[in-house]
Order: sequence, then structure tokens, then C-alpha cells
Amino acid sequence: EKFREGLTKTRDNFTSKVNDLVSRYRKVDEEFFEELEEILIQADVGFETVMELVEELKKEVKRRNIQDTKEVQAVISEKLVEMYENGTNDGSFHLNIQEDGLTVILFVGVNGVGKTTTIGKLAHKLKREGKKVLLAAGDTFRAGAIEQLEVWGERVGVDVIKQGEGSDPAAVMYDAIQSAKSRKADILICDTAGRLQNKVNLMKELEKVKRVIEREVPGAPQEVLLVLDATTGQNALIQAKTFKEATDVSGIVLTKLDGTAKGGIVLAIRKELHIPVKYVGLGEKMDDLQEFNAERYVYGLFA
Ligand code: GDP
Repeated sequence: EKFREGLTKTRDNFTSKVNDLVSRYRKVDEEFFEELEEILIQADVGFETVMELVEELKKEVKRRNIQDTKEVQAVISEKLVEMYENGTNDGSFHLNIQEDGLTVILFVGVNGVGKTTTIGKLAHKLKREGKKVLLAAGDTFRAGAIEQLEVWGERVGVDVIKQGEGSDPAAVMYDAIQSAKSRKADILICDTAGRLQNKVNLMKELEKVKRVIEREVPGAPQEVLLVLDATTGQNALIQAKTFKEATDVSGIVLTKLDGTAKGGIVLAIRKELHIPVKYVGLGEKMDDLQEFNAERYVYGLFA
């Protein structure tokens, strides 16, 4: 239900256009597919992904000898899920969390994409699952970032380990890890600075932070989650490519999916980056973070 609600804008745009297309055309022909391509591209599915998807659809329509456009709609849903899952089991990607010992989750992403909000929401979710969670205020660069994380910490009842603005993020990480160990925390969620202007600095900072984590906690960080803003469309893909070059990203959190009519970006990200979308943000409140699942997503669009 959360998915359905969060996808209202995309449904109003994309799904209603598909429905309209299906009702206007009675026969499945070349023109039908051309219009469908246009609708998919406008929903930010991404050019290459659209071409591949429509190619698959054409094959399937031919194979099953489908004549009626109404039947094509079901095939579209099927193919969307299939394409997203692409060899994985169920299209939902769980976080790699240790049964015993400390799990470290590192968050990366540009300012304004919803990184702090997502950290707060995830802390809330994990805490509700019975985990002992601690936050590390590793964005020592942006004014107000530490306070903002503290606000979320208070809201969800999770402590924040911090130092002053301008301090060394690697030192914050070191401190946070020692605290997490002595308090026997299960999960440490780390914020990082999100400036992209200087890629070399970004890389160096992330490397240094990661090195401390790797040294202090064997096997960590178990997750490096990149936060992307769905409303920025193809720009999000460009950001993702830069971060991929700077560090090993294990998963993506796509925020503000509720704020865009172009939810097709989920597919483009999956296809072009080969990194799973693990969570999606569907609103500003603490419960508005959902584990991503391709079937639920497509159901949210068409059901
Ligand atoms: P940061 O600079 O990356 O840490 O971004 P913030 O966490 O401060 O978020 C920026 C803005 O986006 C805030 O106003 C958030 O409330 C909003 N935001 C974050 N996630 C979502 C989401 O999933 N949906 C919506 N509608 N707004 C969001």
C-alpha cells in the first residue's frame, strides 16, 4: 500500500498514459510500440533500457501471438519485473547485516538528496527490528549537517557520535567505532560529506574513512549505500557514475520517488549501473522508507 501511495505521481503520468494507449489502439502494431517507447522514455526509463524492453515485448507478443492491446498490458508488467530482477531471485535486496558483531553501513551521496533523512529512517527501521543502532556524524564539512543528524537521532531514539564541524571525518569514524564496540552496538550507520565539486578530494576522504572502518572492524563496511534523488532524473545516473569511480557502492537508496512522475528511473539505474536499489524513499516521515521490490513496484504502478 505504501508503494501504491508513494507512486501516485508516476501512476498519474506513466500508467495513465499506458492505459490510454491501450484503449486507443485495438491492434498491436508498429505504431503502438512507437508510442509506448515515447511514454517509457518520458518516464525516465532511459533510452537503452526502453529499446531493450520494447524489443523483448515485441518478441513475446509474437511468441504468444497476442493481437489485443489489453493483453499487452500484462506482458508489459511481466517484462518490467523480469528486466529489473535480471537473474536475481525476487528483486528485493536485503542489507548485509552480521548475525554477530558489528555491522557498519556507510552512506554516501551529494548534499540535498536526502542522505540524513534516509539515515534517520533506516536507524528507526533497524531499531524497531530490535537492533542496537548508533550513528556517526561523518559529514563534518557542511554547516548544520551534524545538528541535523542529531535531530533525527533524537526523533528515533538513537545516539549520535560526533566531533566539531571541520574535524577529520576519519577521526569521527574511529571514535564512533570504539563507542559502538564498547556499547555492544549491532549497527553503526555513518554519514559522510557529499561534495562532488572536487572528485579527487571526495575520493581521498572516502578512502580514508573506509580504511579506518576496514582496519577497526574486519569485514566492514558491510554496506556502502549511495543515496540518489529520483526527482533529478538522468542527473542521478551521472552522480552515481562518479561515486562508483570513487568507491565500491553495494546498494542504492532512491529517495523522493513520491515526488516524481518519472519513477521509471528505478529501471534505468538498475540497468545502467548494475547496482541493486535496496530501498526507496516514499515521503519525509520516518516510516517512509521501503525495501525495494520489483514486483511490488510494478504492482504499485498498474494495480
Ligand atoms: P541531505 O542533504 O542529503 O542530508 O538531505 P536531507 O536528508 O536534508 O533531505 C533534503 C530534503 O529532502 C528534506 O526536506 C527531506 O525532508 C526531503 N526528503 C528526503 N527524502 C525524501 C523522500 O523520500 N520523499 C520526499 N518527498 N522528501 C524527502
